[in-house]
Amino acid sequence: MNSEVQTILDRYNSDKTRLMDILWDVQNAQGFLSDEAIASMAEGLNMSGYDVRETLTFYHFFHDKPFGKHKIFLSDTVIARVNGYDEVHDALEAATGCSFGGVDSSGTFGLGHAPCIGLSEQEPAMMVDEVVFTNLTAAKVNDIVGQLKSGKSAADIAAPGQASTTIGYVDAIVTAEVHKGGTVMFKDGIDYKAVLQAAIDKKPAGVVDVVKAANLRGRGGAGFPTGLKWGLCSEAEGAEKYVICNADEGEPGTFKDRVLLTRSPKDVLVGMAVAAYAIGSRNGILYLRAEYRYLKDFLNQQIQDLRDAGLLGKGILGAFDFDIRIVIGGGAYICGDETSLIESCEGKRGSPRVKPPYPVQQGYLGMPTAVNNVETYAIATRVIEKGSDWFTAMGTKDSPGTRLLSVSGDCDKPGVYEIEWGTSLNEVLAMVGASNAKAAQISGPAGECLSVAKDGDRIFCYSDLSCNGSLMIFNQSRNLLDVVKHFMDFFVEESCGICVPCRAGGVDMRDKIDLVIAGRATQQDLDEIQSWGNLLKASRCALGTTSPKPLLTTLDKFPEIYAEKIVVQEGALLASFDIEEAGAANKRLLKKFMGVNA
Ligand code: SF4
Repeated sequence: MNSEVQTILDRYNSDKTRLMDILWDVQNAQGFLSDEAIASMAEGLNMSGYDVRETLTFYHFFHDKPFGKHKIFLSDTVIARVNGYDEVHDALEAATGCSFGGVDSSGTFGLGHAPCIGLSEQEPAMMVDEVVFTNLTAAKVNDIVGQLKSGKSAADIAAPGQASTTIGYVDAIVTAEVHKGGTVMFKDGIDYKAVLQAAIDKKPAGVVDVVKAANLRGRGGAGFPTGLKWGLCSEAEGAEKYVICNADEGEPGTFKDRVLLTRSPKDVLVGMAVAAYAIGSRNGILYLRAEYRYLKDFLNQQIQDLRDAGLLGKGILGAFDFDIRIVIGGGAYICGDETSLIESCEGKRGSPRVKPPYPVQQGYLGMPTAVNNVETYAIATRVIEKGSDWFTAMGTKDSPGTRLLSVSGDCDKPGVYEIEWGTSLNEVLAMVGASNAKAAQISGPAGECLSVAKDGDRIFCYSDLSCNGSLMIFNQSRNLLDVVKHFMDFFVEESCGICVPCRAGGVDMRDKIDLVIAGRATQQDLDEIQSWGNLLKASRCALGTTSPKPLLTTLDKFPEIYAEKIVVQEGALLASFDIEEAGAANKRLLKKFMGVNA
């Protein structure tokens, strides 16, 4: 048994459901997860080595081979691609002396890509070890790599002299600017003790009633009524109940939860405590995406502040016990799905569960669990503070209140905006300075690509643009087919692979956009995009069912970009059939299996 691993296992009482924490601690201590360390973890946790590998290989940021003393991941988003990504990519390879996907000869640097690290308003951006760097240029990359070579840590470069528990540290690393606050979010002077006392005065059922009366719906994307969820969870049978905050904000283009956790963390934490009181939970988990690891110490300090004030921990205002711990994800988009997230919290691969049972019935460790988004908990705090009538006076009848938008792309002022539901797309575009916008991607790749000319008057609300918080803007000069291609690559990469429609269909759909871009697609290919898109609806989770949407929504809103590229089939051969590539493939097979040089 590796003694360092043993010490780490002791820290978690050799509890295999804490495998995510254990993997992070071992990797941080030893640089990577070696065969020896995996064997020690398996022995100490009474698992097989295959079980440990099953979890660790699922996530982007765990390594079972050396990946350099400094692990660098460049954010590869469509926004970065139009903001200098190529220059930064090349500068990183030149400065570190290694290629992407590899390690330099001295073992100092490992270079990789990450799909979206939650910094779309400050791209190009990269993670280096536990911190991030934004607004990168080639010169900035050279400076950072030079300082790493001189022996400085990434944290020392990003936030010199700052303690990692402080807001000074967080602010030195990342700008978390709120361009337009509204009525609900980012308010100073909230009396958290009074909020919790108000909840206690209402009794658990009264809290559920207030949240129901406010018609608060989940801000993670699905829009499920929060009061109904809490009510079901409070009624479910279970020796324990759990509250989980989904801070795995992985939808490309979304970053508002990052800003909320930076500027108003106690709104979120107290909202979790309110939920705990309502459903009868003693334990909560804040599942923080790995890309936001630089927030971990700061958030732990916020939790400690609340404990010190008697607002978390044992005997909260003499009425209930509830505490929160942070679990760091490993880098997997699918863990934004609540059941995948629960699996990950239990130390497993983040594969979605078959529903029912729903998490409110059997969630974390098989117990009733309320999983809500960061923004939802923050709003719940304000609803308890100000009342449901105050909340329903904003927005529209069916979509009361406000919502945060993460705005990125071709506009003058990318950043976070709080809008009332009912605001139109054109009003938002004017607000952010997007005067030349052609397309607006709502809710990330899983959402819709809107035509500003056709859809500008549509409004943000659950019955129209039920945005999950991501708004990417593309101006008249952008090639939307390249955007679609990027999004399809993303879905193929992030599919967990457990069900066939998503695993195979995603690749087939990506092949279609490749054909279109290559100018070899026919009308038949476009028809198949439509029909195969329906087949993907048989996927187990939303990743699969929504993955054709970049193709389907651009086909609907911008048919001309496809019409310009398709060809008319002449003769017997399909235009999509590449006879030269087929011949080359045939030669490769003959060589490989028969040793014949054709
Ligand atoms: Fe996994 Fe995709 Fe199936 Fe979801 S739809 S369970 S991500 S393979």
